[in-house]
Amino acid sequence: MHPAPHETEHLVIIGNGMAGHRLVEALLKRPDRPARITVIGDEATPAYNRILLSPWLAGEMERQALTLREAEWYAEQGIELVLGERVTSIDRAARRLTTDAGRALDYQRLVLATGSRPAMPAVPGITLSGVHGFRDLEDAETLARIAERGGRVVVIGGGLLGLEAAEGMRKRGARISVLQRSARLMNRQLDATAATLLEAELGRRGLAIHTGAQLAAIEGDHHGRVAGVRLADGQRLAAHCVVVAAGITPNVELGREADLATQHAIVVDDHLTTSDPAIHALGECCQFEGTTYGLVEPIWRQVEVLAEHLAANPAESARYEERPSATKLKVSGISLFAFGPTEADAGHDVLAYHDPEQGDYRRLLLRDGRLEGAVLYGDTAMGPWLFSQAQAGSDLAACRRALLLGTADADALLDAHHSDNPDRPAKEAA
Ligand SMILES: Cc1cc2nc3c(=O)[nH]c(=O)nc-3n(C[C@H](O)[C@H](O)[C@H](O)COP(=O)(O)OP(=O)(O)OC[C@H]3O[C@@H](n4cnc5c(N)ncnc54)[C@H](O)[C@@H]3O)c2cc1C
Repeated sequence: MHPAPHETEHLVIIGNGMAGHRLVEALLKRPDRPARITVIGDEATPAYNRILLSPWLAGEMERQALTLREAEWYAEQGIELVLGERVTSIDRAARRLTTDAGRALDYQRLVLATGSRPAMPAVPGITLSGVHGFRDLEDAETLARIAERGGRVVVIGGGLLGLEAAEGMRKRGARISVLQRSARLMNRQLDATAATLLEAELGRRGLAIHTGAQLAAIEGDHHGRVAGVRLADGQRLAAHCVVVAAGITPNVELGREADLATQHAIVVDDHLTTSDPAIHALGECCQFEGTTYGLVEPIWRQVEVLAEHLAANPAESARYEERPSATKLKVSGISLFAFGPTEADAGHDVLAYHDPEQGDYRRLLLRDGRLEGAVLYGDTAMGPWLFSQAQAGSDLAACRRALLLGTADADALLDAHHSDNPDRPAKEAA
């Protein structure tokens, strides 16, 4: 027998984005969820798959495919959905929040799932018309329209988001330059060889990549519109539009003004509870043990833990813990998979395979036979297997030589090794 739902509890979720929506889906699976759930989001449409904004911008999918659920679905599930309203304040003593439409709402439990926004560098000209972020559907639609006019676009940031914006806009007809401050593209995920391969491929497609390029100012015309950018070395690039994809800033203000403990983001414990036991936070607006978030994989694990603690009979053992994440680039025709450190240290055993003809590159970092990091470019089929082995901490010494060649070979060697060692489990990773 399932326990009865919380009979009177009113849970309010602020933010109808990826985390807030996934939490609703997880709670609906639990009969002991709070009796009344309200979701308030400031975007005009119900939650959509934000990750797919990149392939949508590249013209590779229909808008409809991004929709997670229609507004009617929430009503059918008994969830109150308020869209197009921004929560502007939280009165913790009264357990009441207020929106910019003047709505006041009482809660017993509150979840902040307010995400983050593009970080805007403090350079002259950053507020000019024609400077855009790439965060939501509105941004994506604006960038698509601009790209279709075929002008010159400068993308600030050669990380995942910047490259996806750049390729998407190029495919729609814009002439693109990418400015990357670091000496290589995707410097947090790729080593120098993989970054060089990526840069060469993007260059062949027509993107002008400037690495080691420090933005000094965005310059405007006499109408206050973007006319170009100036780099620290004095170089100027003409532009009709500047897309800023140089990191994210967590939307922490609502929590900060309500006097919740905040640092870079809203501080939570391993139950996703803030400094107020009635208020939780998850996703890109939260910070756990000093870590903030920018990928969905850890956020999905946060959702499972929080759904448990919002239910009437939570399992105390449900705790969030930090784990490494793997990265993929969503640019069609380019396959790339990476996790762990990019630089080898003295204790690393480095295994590398490079086939320039086929454009395949793989490099693994092992320590005492255990995988700590990998960069795969070209054929990335082994990526998920390698990631699972790294997460499980498997000793891969027995299949060292097959590691770069294919999971079938590596698995066979591991199995043979383990059958010689009956004390060890046959497979260490699921
Ligand atoms: C173009 C793009 C591509 C991406 N690709 C990947 C990928 O390939 N893989 C990956 O793992 N991650 C990717 N990400 C990151 C991923 O989308 C985020 O990690 C995820 O969306 C975070 O979820 P969230 O709910 O914390 O924030 P969001 O999804 O941003 O949701 C927060 C919501 O809260 C709303 N909100 C904020 N403040 C208020 C307020 N005061 N009142 C009401 N509503 C408010 C916001 O408008 C927003 O709708 C991508 C992001 C972008 C922008």
